Amino acid sequence: MTGTFVEPTPTPLALLLLGQKADPESERGVECPGDLPAPSDPDLVNRARAAKAALGDRVFILGHHYQRNEVIEFADVTGDSFKLAQQAAAHPEAEFIVFCGVHFMAESADILTSADQQVILPDLAAGCSMADMAEINQVEDCWAALDRAGVAEVTVPITYMNSSAAIKSFTGKHGGSVCTSSNAERSMEWAFEQGEKVLFLPDQHLGRNTAVRDLGLSLDDCVVYNPNKPDGGLTHEQMRAARVILWKGHCSVHGRFTPECVDDVREQVPGITVIVHPECAYEVVEKADIVGSTEKIIATIAAAEPGTSFAIGTELNLVKRIAQQNPDKQIVYLDKTVCFCSTMNRIDLPHLVWALESLLAGNVVNQIVVDDDTKEWSKVALDRMLALPGPSAARD
Ligand code: SF4
Repeated sequence: MTGTFVEPTPTPLALLLLGQKADPESERGVECPGDLPAPSDPDLVNRARAAKAALGDRVFILGHHYQRNEVIEFADVTGDSFKLAQQAAAHPEAEFIVFCGVHFMAESADILTSADQQVILPDLAAGCSMADMAEINQVEDCWAALDRAGVAEVTVPITYMNSSAAIKSFTGKHGGSVCTSSNAERSMEWAFEQGEKVLFLPDQHLGRNTAVRDLGLSLDDCVVYNPNKPDGGLTHEQMRAARVILWKGHCSVHGRFTPECVDDVREQVPGITVIVHPECAYEVVEKADIVGSTEKIIATIAAAEPGTSFAIGTELNLVKRIAQQNPDKQIVYLDKTVCFCSTMNRIDLPHLVWALESLLAGNVVNQIVVDDDTKEWSKVALDRMLALPGPSAARD
C-alpha cells in the first residue's frame, strides 16, 4: 500500500519549534526581517550602546528579573511584570517601549500605555509556558461547564498577571480581578466577598497556596479543572462542592523544585534559609522558610545579615544576579540541575540589537498590539486589582 504523506497543519507551537514563519493571529513566530546579528559578533555591545544612545528618550527599555545579564545591562529599569508595565506607563515621552520579558508582559504594557506608544517584544517566540496553558476558548468552555453545573453566577474569576490579555479581558467582563503573587491573598479574599467560589487562572499552585495557606481553606475545598478533559474532568457535584476551582496550569521552571530539593539542601547546608516563589508546588512551599515574589526574595536577601545562607527557588538568571549582588552571603540554587526560563532566555543581545537598530532605521518590528475591546476589559480587571487595599497591591 502506498501512503500519502499529509503535512500537519502548523500550530503556533510548531512554528516556534521549527524556528520559521510567523503567526499573525497569536503574534508568535520567530521571523526577524533584516539581518539578525550573529551571537558571536564582538561588536554587539557597542552596537546596542550606539543604537540606544541614538534613540535617546524615544526608547525606554524594560528588563524583567529573569532576563540574561547581557540584556539587563541595557535596561532602563528592572523589575517584575507589573512594576515594568507601570514603568512603561510612567514614561509617556518614550515613543517605543522595548520589553525584555515575555509576551503577556508586553501585552500588559500595551494595555497600560497611551495609544501613541508602541510596545516591542524583541523576539516574538518569548512566550510563557504557564500563560500558554490557558487559551481563551478553553476558559470560555470552562465557564460554560460551570454554568451547566449551576455555579457560574456565584463564581468570581481571578487571573494571575501571567495570562494573556484575552483572559484578563474575560476576567474583567465576568466581574473578576487580576492578581500578582504578592496580592493573591487580598484578591481571593475580595473575590469571596463578591461571590461564593473562585475560578483561579492559570497557575494552580499560586491558587492552591493562596487558598490553603493564606485563607485557611482545606485542600479538599479546591478542585483542579483540566481543560483537556470534558467538563474539566469534574462532575457537577464536584464543581458545586468546591470553593476554589484551580486551572490546571503551572510554571515549568518553578515546577522543577520538589520537596526532596528542600530536604537535600537542608542536609548539605545546616541552618540554611529556604526561600521560594509561590509558583512552586504546595508541598515545596510548605517545606520552605519564606515564600514570596521576586521583589520579596530580592529585598529579603539584601536585608539579611552577612554570612546568612539562602537556598532560592526561582529562576536561575535572577538567582545568579542575587548571588553577584550579595557576595557577603552564601547563595545556593534550590534545584540540583540548571534550568533557566527558556522563553525568557529567547531575548538575547542579538535580538535586542536587531530591534533597536530596526527602530533607528524607521522599522517598527515585533510590535505587540492589544485590540481596543480586550484592552478596555483587561483594564477593568487590572483596575480592580489596583483598588485592593494594602501596601503591596501592585507587586508581582
Ligand atoms: S518563569 Fe515560569 S511563569 Fe515566568 S515566564 Fe518563565 S514559564 Fe512563565
